[in-house]
Amino acid sequence: MEEKETPVRRKIIHIDMDAFYASVEQRDYPEYREKPLVVGGLPQGRGGVVATASYEARKFGIRSAMPSKQALQLCPHAIFVRPRFAVYKEVSKKIREIFSRYTDIIEPLSLDEAYLDVTVDKLSIGSAIDIAEQIKQAIKDELQLTASAGVSVNKFVAKIASDIKKPDGLTFIGPSSVEKFIERLPVDKFHGVGKVTAGKMKKMGLFTGADIKQLTEEQLISHFGKAGHFYYRIVRGIDNREVQPHRETKSMGAEDTFAYDLTTIEEMHTALEKITQIVYDRLLKYQLKCRTVTLKVKYSDFKQITRSLSFTECTNNKDFILNIAKQLLESTGIENSRIRLLGVTVSNFNNTAPKGKTPDQLKLFDI
Ligand SMILES: [Mg+2]
Repeated sequence: MEEKETPVRRKIIHIDMDAFYASVEQRDYPEYREKPLVVGGLPQGRGGVVATASYEARKFGIRSAMPSKQALQLCPHAIFVRPRFAVYKEVSKKIREIFSRYTDIIEPLSLDEAYLDVTVDKLSIGSAIDIAEQIKQAIKDELQLTASAGVSVNKFVAKIASDIKKPDGLTFIGPSSVEKFIERLPVDKFHGVGKVTAGKMKKMGLFTGADIKQLTEEQLISHFGKAGHFYYRIVRGIDNREVQPHRETKSMGAEDTFAYDLTTIEEMHTALEKITQIVYDRLLKYQLKCRTVTLKVKYSDFKQITRSLSFTECTNNKDFILNIAKQLLESTGIENSRIRLLGVTVSNFNNTAPKGKTPDQLKLFDI
């Protein structure tokens, strides 16, 4: 791209509920309050993972996406409960209703997170900080829950800002401080930079936004592919992505990069079970059924293939999806193969997801 791009200045708020599922459970069940609570798969079950841990549980090192078994080891007296997605969805609707008092340009990223564009707000409040404060207060008063807010001129910075003072925080990064903020930002905090990419950057001596700024766009593209375009702009405070109120879920998936190459069918099946469990949890969360399953395989030589299978009936049956993933894997001819990554994506959903859903390619483990 030759033309000089200039940043579009908007007033963006990113709202992120604090430990959402766990907070709803603690709100509804007083006996869980001030206790280490884990919402997700039960540690007794196979392949269960933590969806959300309460702040009390996080003190023990328990994190989202961690196997529940591991969470139990970290905190043997933790309370484990299964998620109640129907309830979270209801609460999420109410949160969205609060947002809509201020703007209709709302882009939910999940049940507990959304971008709001308040460049023009319905109540002519004008100050995005005031709006964020009012939203937080309304969530507290009406739903007895807390949220953290990031307020800035673009999505990238607003999203990172909401994470700075969690829980119950509000962080404003104004137009004049955006570039400085990104320059100081460690690369692992860059939204969209996974562990592997961050590791690669550090090896190249890139630790902060300022370091990335030293490279030309061509250099960034040669090292990081398409993402290089994005990095080049973002470190200059340029993120002109709009808040998109009507995005729909087209696919969702999960993948896992392994610490060592998988060579046996047993290992591969175990990995697929774990990955499918995550995909299945997401399907339940968004109440979707799929008609296509896609398997992604990356080999030790980084060659990558995908295989898909579609069927006539929509399903959210975990075993069915898992079996298809296994069949697809077998169809690739696994004799003598060394696999470093497996991914499962489901698509072709029955119901178009409710307005505002975002494509939900989940890379829980790394990429
Ligand atoms: Mg959250």
